[in-house]
Amino acid sequence: MTDMFQEQLKKTFESERDLVIKECGNNKNSSSLNTATINFYARLDETIAGASTHIEQGVHCKKSCSYCCYFRVDVSANEIFAISDCMQTSFTNEELKQFVERANENKKQISMLSQAKRIVTNIACPLLVDDTCSVYAVRPSMCRKIHSMNVEACKHSYENPEDRNVENAEHPVLSAITMTMLIAARDGFSSHNLDDTVYDLSEVLIFALEDSKYKKRWLNGKKAFP
Ligand code: SF4
Repeated sequence: MTDMFQEQLKKTFESERDLVIKECGNNKNSSSLNTATINFYARLDETIAGASTHIEQGVHCKKSCSYCCYFRVDVSANEIFAISDCMQTSFTNEELKQFVERANENKKQISMLSQAKRIVTNIACPLLVDDTCSVYAVRPSMCRKIHSMNVEACKHSYENPEDRNVENAEHPVLSAITMTMLIAARDGFSSHNLDDTVYDLSEVLIFALEDSKYKKRWLNGKKAFP
């Protein structure tokens, strides 16, 4: 990595973190924190869309392509609460019930696997419905940052989850920039004394949906989930 690129990443980190700090506001209420998350997502999308026009192979990711929806999804608490708020207002009772059933089934499957086995086992994200993300507009940053330049490599990885030698289909420069943005956003929330632990979406989303005490814990500066 050249000095110039390192300097660029440093600037990206500082500017993204400062924007998130500002957008969270001083009152740290649920609405301003959701806005900070959504605005961060917009900048992440914009960065990928802008860069993709310069990538010769193009970015192959599109809505309803779900090869990457079978891995563990790392999320921070602000993302979980943005998703659970969205689900509570836009899902029907039946859709919520079905999600809870999928999430419980998912947890049961994961609990029977070692960490090493989990990495090489396809388990559908509980938010995946008919090959489409059911919370696409508020999908987590780990999902948004994925930008594959080779859908065949994604397909191969999905069909051969035990093959750890599969080509990394992301652009290395864009990957470093988007990862930097993601870490900076977490740092922005953490600067407001908000838990920035990385959680497994499959484990904690169900808690956020079922009991508002977790969001209260988070807003009060505590670790959001046990
Ligand atoms: S949150 Fe949506 S995009 Fe991310 S893994 Fe789950 S279904 Fe796929």
